[in-house]
Amino acid sequence: MQRKHTRTVDIGGVGIGGDNPVRVQSMCNTDTRDVLSTVTQINSLAEAGCEIVRLAVPDDAAAAKLKEIREQSPVPLIADIHFDHRLALSALEAGIEGLRINPGNIGDESKVDTVVRAAMEHGAPIRIGVNGGSLEKDLLRRFGGPTPEAMVESGLRHVSMLEKRGFHDIKISLKTSSVLNTVAAYRLMSGKVDYPLHIGITEAGTLVRGAVKSAVGLGILLSEGIGDTMRVSLTHDPVAEIGVAYEILRSLGLRERGPEIISCPTCGRTEINLIDLAEKVEEALRGVEEVFTVAVMGCVVNGPGEAKEADIGIAGGRGLGIIFKKGEVVRKVKGDENLLPEFMKEIEAFLRERRS
Ligand code: SF4
Repeated sequence: MQRKHTRTVDIGGVGIGGDNPVRVQSMCNTDTRDVLSTVTQINSLAEAGCEIVRLAVPDDAAAAKLKEIREQSPVPLIADIHFDHRLALSALEAGIEGLRINPGNIGDESKVDTVVRAAMEHGAPIRIGVNGGSLEKDLLRRFGGPTPEAMVESGLRHVSMLEKRGFHDIKISLKTSSVLNTVAAYRLMSGKVDYPLHIGITEAGTLVRGAVKSAVGLGILLSEGIGDTMRVSLTHDPVAEIGVAYEILRSLGLRERGPEIISCPTCGRTEINLIDLAEKVEEALRGVEEVFTVAVMGCVVNGPGEAKEADIGIAGGRGLGIIFKKGEVVRKVKGDENLLPEFMKEIEAFLRERRS
């Protein structure tokens, strides 16, 4: 897979674009004025592998808390600002590493000048975020709706406002809730600029719908080498977005983090409560960063064979589970209730051995 060449921007030490890996980011859904909740969520996101966190900064009260949040965050932060350029200045003063703001929406040219100057002084990149739901009226009229062409034109307008001030520390996103329009817009933009692209499907929906839409849309783009940083938007706890993002990247061979859990779909041969076991194993391994493969299979006849590449696995039999490594049976565990604890013991031993 050939990634499209893009410039590099740096958000508080995290490189985006160029040869950097596709970066995973998310956005807090806490009230930014509530420092404790926000920092707690940032920490949970960072533990899950989130590399950059965006915070909404809707007013002065939120901006006033940014310094305190910044001091406690283990990852770089981006302030998401609409319209009010003063909030962007406050965010930069507070040490926030990047802005998401559309220069065309913050008022007269002098305000744009001020924000660009401050961003330059602080070395903070600006993400231009075009959203299909809030396109300029003249573009909607000209293109007959929020078409990919209209989105790209809108993005380029904002870009040119920054470029003419000598500012090139830019990322661009072009989000709509339509997978096909989003894909078309990013393809188009990718052919026109070499700024890094932040990809995502906005308002994608609840966990399953949102994950599927994001996987399809972002999967298409990433498979074409488009996309330097990504956000999976879900109507859910944002921590779940990180797991989905890494699964998308893993599926395409772009990045790996944490165990890959292979589990069979179950069938008439399954003799244990496999769905429950697979979910519990996944839950127990949440937060583990090491890359390895775990198989949770329904039967001893086909399980180990089907999962023979797995580093470690368990296959269910009648009233027992068979633990295997690389397809070779190593141990039998009797009693349904013992399967999870004994399997986890084996996984812990496997990880200890690996780490030593
Ligand atoms: Fe069925 Fe066994 Fe395959 Fe699972 S591993 S789907 S139980 S045959």
